[in-house]
Amino acid sequence: MDFTGKVVVVTGAASGIGEACVREFAARHAAVAMVDCKAGAGEQTVAELRQKGATLRYFQADVSSRAEVERLVPQVVGSFGGIDVLVNNAGIQRYGSATTTSEEQWDEVISVNLKGAFLMSKYAIPEIIKRGGGAIVMTGSVQSVTAQQNSVAYVTSKHAILGLMRSIALDFGRQNIRANCVMPGAIDTPMLRWAASRDRDPDKVLAGCAGLHIRGTLGQPEEVARVIVFLASDLASFVTGAAYAVDGGLLVPAGGMAFQGAGLGAPK
Ligand code: NAD
Repeated sequence: MDFTGKVVVVTGAASGIGEACVREFAARHAAVAMVDCKAGAGEQTVAELRQKGATLRYFQADVSSRAEVERLVPQVVGSFGGIDVLVNNAGIQRYGSATTTSEEQWDEVISVNLKGAFLMSKYAIPEIIKRGGGAIVMTGSVQSVTAQQNSVAYVTSKHAILGLMRSIALDFGRQNIRANCVMPGAIDTPMLRWAASRDRDPDKVLAGCAGLHIRGTLGQPEEVARVIVFLASDLASFVTGAAYAVDGGLLVPAGGMAFQGAGLGAPK
């Protein structure tokens, strides 16, 4: 998986899975455009990886803003000469059901998680076509195919990401663009720790999340990033329109681990 001469754009690149993607792509000689809405948040990573010989630059942009994405894409092309790979990874979580989620929260989550991926694709795809094709990888979630309670906007956005990914795979396959999705389980990132911190006993929540996976521990950001890198690489040349669970087997048990934990079906 060598990305020499390739330009990779990663959104949500200042933290968690996105930052791990930056490191994994840079280690494989890609030029990396780190995109995040946080001011200056990636500068330390840029300095550290540049010292190791990597080519990368931090771009501050809100992926949910058409104006910012429209401005961002030419900046990336101006810096690196084009775009070959887009990783639509930026995402946020807000908790609430269909009745308790405010309209503002709904719009915020859908704008970042879904519209952000749409806008980045809309402006990056013409650039990928100019390069003769490339790859798009989206960060979905196990909640792209299941639901967590009290997460209506997030679950809806992650389900819809599959539709966006499949539409792009179909509409641009003949222009040599592959589009795929990863569906992570519970990954040890600032997002997960923030979610756990809302509870009175965050450690118990994190242990519960770890227990959702067959191996009993949380996923690490680089374990997701490496699958994203694979899907973006030429090794995955016949993979498109696919959704890969990177979930430590979370989706395997019928009825979920909670069902198993209740003792039903447990060996005597
Ligand atoms: P994180 O919070 O550590 O990182 C997300 C990054 O996205 C942050 O740096 C944030 O500033 C950035 N971001 C947020 N809104 C943005 C915007 N409007 N424009 C640009 N950047 C923006 O979270 P993470 O856990 O690394 O999550 C990355 C992706 O993985 C998300 O799409 C998330 O839904 C998904 N995911 C995470 C988990 C998990 O357990 N951590 C599980 C499944 C899916």
